[in-house]
Amino acid sequence: MLRKFLKFKFKLILIMLVLFLCLEHGVLNSERAKYGIASGDPFLKQAVLTFDDGPREHGIQELLAVMREHGVHATFFLVGKFAERYSDITREIYNSGHEIANHSYTHPKLYKLWVEKIMREAERCDEVLENLNLRKTMFLRPPGGGFNIKIFNAMRRMNLKLGLWSLNTADYTGRPASEIVNLVLRGVKPGMVILMHSGVPNTVKALPEIIKGLKAKGYELVRLDDLWNCWRI
Ligand SMILES: [Zn+2]
Repeated sequence: MLRKFLKFKFKLILIMLVLFLCLEHGVLNSERAKYGIASGDPFLKQAVLTFDDGPREHGIQELLAVMREHGVHATFFLVGKFAERYSDITREIYNSGHEIANHSYTHPKLYKLWVEKIMREAERCDEVLENLNLRKTMFLRPPGGGFNIKIFNAMRRMNLKLGLWSLNTADYTGRPASEIVNLVLRGVKPGMVILMHSGVPNTVKALPEIIKGLKAKGYELVRLDDLWNCWRI
């Protein structure tokens, strides 16, 4: 009886292990990965810096200067109406080799809107970028990160992918730069996508230490589209 029970338990553990591997690294994950990304290859020491809610009038030049100095590129999720207002800064981000991605036009809670409205928000942001002759965005990050089936429907129709994150620095809360640095360097894992924001002074202050710390740990800093391409090979 005991032997039978142990045999059953062993089989159960084996099934659960196979299911876990399928979900995390196998067939099921690659199926899920068609629609978006929140982190990359768990065996590759890559990380992505993402900056939401820009471009802002202040703070972007400093962010760009730090990244230029350290030779790294990031992904900027831009709000269309700000990209329109600060078109020169938008162009400068793009021309500095960073990825521009879609963060809607007016920054509403997309999950509360109908599919057509969601599409219009994403389209208007893309139109602004198109008028600046920038390449079409690959990723959409819904403001606040909340998403539902309506957002997926809209994105599928627009050929956009969901670009989420796996580490939220909560830099918008006004936490000190040292806390942001510690959070990233202690929490870093291969394939991590880090959420930060444009125009936050403490983020600008924290950035040099974050970049140096991640490099010292052997991480390569890439854009979200690079992470996506590596993950899918
Ligand atoms: Zn946002």
